[in-house]
Order: sequence, then C-alpha cells, then structure tokens
Amino acid sequence: MIAELISVGTELLMGQVLNTDAQFMAKELAPLGVNVYHQVTVGDNPGRLKDALTQALSRADVAILSGGLGPTGDDLTKETVAELFHKELVMDEAALETLKARFRAFGREMTPNNLKQAMFPVGSIILPNEKGTAPGCIVEGEDGKACILLPGPPRELFPMFTDSVMPYLEKRAGHKLYTRELRIFGKGESSVEYELRDLIEGQTNPTIAPYAKTGEVTLRVTARCQTPEEGEGIVMPVVREIISRFGDIVYSIEGEELAEVVAKLLVERDRTLGVAESCTGGMVASTLVDVPGCSEFLMEGAVTYSDAAKMRRLGVNVHTLRQFGAVSAETAKEMAVGMRRTSGADYAIATTGIAGPDGGTKEKPVGLVYIALAGEHTVQVKELHLTGDRARIRHTTVLNVLDLLRRELLKKTEEAE
Ligand code: ATP
Ligand code: MG
Repeated sequence: MIAELISVGTELLMGQVLNTDAQFMAKELAPLGVNVYHQVTVGDNPGRLKDALTQALSRADVAILSGGLGPTGDDLTKETVAELFHKELVMDEAALETLKARFRAFGREMTPNNLKQAMFPVGSIILPNEKGTAPGCIVEGEDGKACILLPGPPRELFPMFTDSVMPYLEKRAGHKLYTRELRIFGKGESSVEYELRDLIEGQTNPTIAPYAKTGEVTLRVTARCQTPEEGEGIVMPVVREIISRFGDIVYSIEGEELAEVVAKLLVERDRTLGVAESCTGGMVASTLVDVPGCSEFLMEGAVTYSDAAKMRRLGVNVHTLRQFGAVSAETAKEMAVGMRRTSGADYAIATTGIAGPDGGTKEKPVGLVYIALAGEHTVQVKELHLTGDRARIRHTTVLNVLDLLRRELLKKTEEAE
C-alpha cells in the first residue's frame, strides 16, 4: 500500500509551525509496510489543495490530510475533498450531538460556523476526536482509493491516528502490528544504533526504530502479524537479543517511564522513599507524583535550596558546607542521610549540583552534580558531569537519581533470590 501525506496550512508553509504531524505519521506507517513516497505541504488554498490531492490520488492508494477541519473560513479541507469525490457534505447527527455536548461541558457558546465540524462527505467513516471538537473522517472513492482527513493540532491528531487510522489501515493491509517499546537509560542514541546496526539493517519484520528523548532512548520493535501471539513470537527473540547486548540499562520493555518502573519496584518491595532536592528543585518528587498510586511509597520531598535549609531541615553539618561546599559528595551524602532519618523512609535520595548557566567555576563547572542514595546500611554517592542547558541538566539529574535507586532496588531482589 502506498500512502501520501498532505499537510494543509499556510503556517506550515511559512515555517511558523513545524510539521510534526507528518513526522509522526510517517514513522507510524513504516512498520505497517505502508510506503510513503511523497509528502506535500500546501497552504489554505482550495485550488492548490485540489491539485495536490488529485496528484496524490493518482500515485497513492491513500491520501492522508492533516489540518483545516476547524470551524473557521480558512478551514477548507472537507469541502475540497467532497468536491473532488463528487460527494455532498451532510450533517452527521451523532457527531452534532457530541459537538453540542462538548460545548455544553465547557460552558461555551456554540456559534453557527461550528456546525460545519459535524458535516462530512456523504458515506464517510467518522473518526471521533477525544481531544478536540473537529472529528476526522475517511472518504472512500469508488476506485478503492481513500482520503483520510485529520485535525491539525498534534494533540488531537496523534491519538486519532493511533486509535482510528491505524486500525483502519491494518484492516486494509490485511495484517496487524505488534509492538514492544524498550526504554534505555545510560547509552546515547548513536551508540545504541551503532551497537544494533546488524539488527537494524535489513530488518523488515520485525522493524527496529530508535527514538531519542532527552537523556534516554526508546527502541520500538514492531512485527507485522495476524495475531498477537504470532507478533510476540516475532518480536520477543529480537527483544531478548537486545537485552543480552545491553543488560540492565534496558529498564522497560513495555514503554514505561523510569519513574513508573521505580515506583513499581518500591511498591513490590514494600519500601518507602524520601527525597531531598537542591538543583532539581522538586522535579524528582514531581516526576514520582506523576505516577498514580505514589502515596504508597513517597513519604515526603523537600526542596532544600539554601545552605540554611540544608542544615535546618536535613541536618547537614555546617563544617561540611564550609569545607566542601553545597555542591559536593559530602553534602549530597548528608542530605540523603538527613532525609532518611527525619522522614522515616526506607530510602532517601538527594540531588545537589550546578545547573547553570551561571555559578560555575573552574573547580566546579556547570553540569557538576552529585546524587546520593541512603539505604538501610549504605550510602551511595555519584558524581555526574552533565551537559546541556539548565533544563537539560536538571532533567538528566532526575533520571540519574531515579536510575541509581532502580539499580539498588534490583540488587535487593538478586540478593533475595
Ligand atoms: P482547528 O479546529 O484547531 O482549527 P484544524 O484541523 O482546522 O484545527 P488547522 O487550523 O490547520 O487545523 O491547524 C490548527 C493548528 O494545529 C495550527 O495552528 C498548528 O499549530 C497545528 N498544526 C496544524 N498542522 C500541523 C502539522 N502538520 N504539524 C504540527 N502542527 C500542526
Ligand atoms: Mg483551523
């Protein structure tokens, strides 16, 4: 199957908005075996959109359009498609009800131009929009070609694509996808790709696609299959091979966040946690609180930014601060120990560092961070040399301290076994 992506929007042409919709869709289509030979961007202009669409349908089986489904005058995608397919635009009663209910729920007035969002080329398959007002739709022509219309905003398009478009295309393609998402912390994207190049190259089923996220790497291993069991049978040997090469830097094979994995381990082992933060300013605690059910293990978090707070709240020794400074292994250690003692938690983690852009010196440059973990018998301290801007340094500090705790918790199982 061949698909062509048509991105509609003058703001995309002018470079005001980056075309992340096309990037997302192209990446999702590859494992399905759907070939994308052309991607086109057109402005909000019916004539040029019609030309683009005519050309797309002459060389592809499916045209996927994004943008221009909204209520305003420049939103012309549906009208153009309807004209080209010689189909009338008709009101869909179910979509109209959903639209009305949405406006009621938000306490917003529905203006007449909004009705347009519930009108579709006759016979369309309507795709619900969980995140916005304009539903998408699929229009099928008599020649078996199809046009898929999606809203422009990525937060609406991404879920609609995953939930509705992929199943439709799977059906058309005659196979399903089975995916495992490996999450890796402790190796950069280029090393990951390099060390797996023999697996990545020439792989068609399953495919292996790396995605970089700040400080971590995600690998998606995807198989084309008829049943989930068959998919698992194709994917798992490759997953096991990757784990045998990388070991425990693979922290999840189910696409979980590091914080989720840590949370799960703490709950499983019935352990509690306290967090003392300086340079991360609450981000470690906040990341853990993002995980539902964190009350089971998180006792407390303290942002002890000043020396005074480190002494008063955590009992860090004044001499430690004077002699070694706030950003030092000694201080990190005393912060963790102090948090563990005062919170009564089984474990405490601490962060202190120089996130920049100012405050660095020759001895203690920007990016120097100490993290500590206090447990029942031992205290571990790690010195990190991180790069990037303030946000990146703080973010990677969070990942590092969570990973330190993850490794400690894993050790505990090994000892028990
Ligand atoms: P709305 O109902 O919000 O008007 P729409 O389906 O009509 O949605 P557009 O009006 O074309 O979509 O775009 C709305 C916004 O969505 C744009 O201003 C832009 O921020 C974002 N957007 C549109 N297309 C893309 C794209 N291809 N990639 C990333 N963002 C996009
Ligand atoms: Mg719009």
